[in-house]
Amino acid sequence: MQGTHSESLPRRDARPEFWQLSMRCCQLAGSVDVAFFFIFLILGSPILAWINVVSVAMYVYAYHAFKQRRNRLAVLLIRIEVLVHAGLGTVLIGWGSGFHYFLLMFIPALFVSMRARSAWIYAGWLWAYYVSLDVLMWFVSPLQPISSNALLGVHVFNLTVVFCMFSYLALFYVVTVSRAHKSLARMATTDSLTGLFNRRHMIALTEKILARHHRRPSNLTLMLMDIDHFKQVNDLHGHDTGDRVLEAVSELLKCSMREQDFIGRWGGEEFLCILPDTDFSHATDSAERIRKAVQALEIYSNGKKVSVTLSIGVTQYRVEEVLSDAIARADCALYEGKLAGRNRVEVVGV
Ligand code: GH3
Ligand code: MG
Ligand code: MG
Repeated sequence: MQGTHSESLPRRDARPEFWQLSMRCCQLAGSVDVAFFFIFLILGSPILAWINVVSVAMYVYAYHAFKQRRNRLAVLLIRIEVLVHAGLGTVLIGWGSGFHYFLLMFIPALFVSMRARSAWIYAGWLWAYYVSLDVLMWFVSPLQPISSNALLGVHVFNLTVVFCMFSYLALFYVVTVSRAHKSLARMATTDSLTGLFNRRHMIALTEKILARHHRRPSNLTLMLMDIDHFKQVNDLHGHDTGDRVLEAVSELLKCSMREQDFIGRWGGEEFLCILPDTDFSHATDSAERIRKAVQALEIYSNGKKVSVTLSIGVTQYRVEEVLSDAIARADCALYEGKLAGRNRVEVVGV
């Protein structure tokens, strides 16, 4: 029972944008109903005019319920308002009024806010209601008919509002989906701690760079970097400080790279950098600058300075070799640097 009830209204974890959209729809629908109040007074249909007063009150109440995060109540009010208003409007002045178009607005909202199964069930009920109303109006005359010109005016007005609302909804969905897509792509390609590319993405990027390199060979240099004695940083200052060191070093690396360079977190405290169109001596100079900058980094933990250094292995990509060969060579250079006392730039493969 609980499950059925909780599925019948939008999930509490529906995206916040959904609730914002619902609040905007409240404002828009409330304003439309204010306009209708005056339109129907002028057209001499006081019953319809007063129905719109009740509708406006319901939208105002729903809007405030949304503000107080009583989302279920707000959605329930909106549903009742749209169903009753569309039904009454149609029965009173006829199918030609176009009030029934508002029922169609529910379809996308159902599928966005519910599990697919519940949405299909509700869409089925909605269809039955819509068709019943349509069939009813084939056999029954409107209870409060208005002149044909006035009916045409109401029809065009309703169509215009529904077109605007659908366009707005479509835009909202496109923007939401593209935002979600971008955020997923970012999560899949970047390392959450450092914001650098992750290892998998670095491999994919490097394969692309190599394919371009094979078509149009030029100098391509690789740097493999590793923070020295990083385990000690964690042991002495704690894991959180270790994380801050990784963030600070990564930030420095990002700032040190040119637009065309690629830098990624290759392992725990290891970074891989690919420098296209860069000859060996320029890459070595750049590695030396980075090494000095890391040495000069000022990071404090509980008032104590945490000093870190970086060892860097530099190599040049050789035509026709596979990526792993070049990385293995950079790793050898890095290892040489570690053996030679760390905080060094070692080069190999010229
Ligand atoms: P070396 O100079 O030879 O590179 O020594 P090292 O201590 O830097 O290397 P080692 O491989 O012994 O230790 C690396 C440490 O990095 C161990 C691991 O706990 C730590 N580490 C890996 N990833 C993270 C992380 O995301 N955050 C923190 N704080 N530590 C990490
Ligand atoms: Mg290390
Ligand atoms: Mg390491």
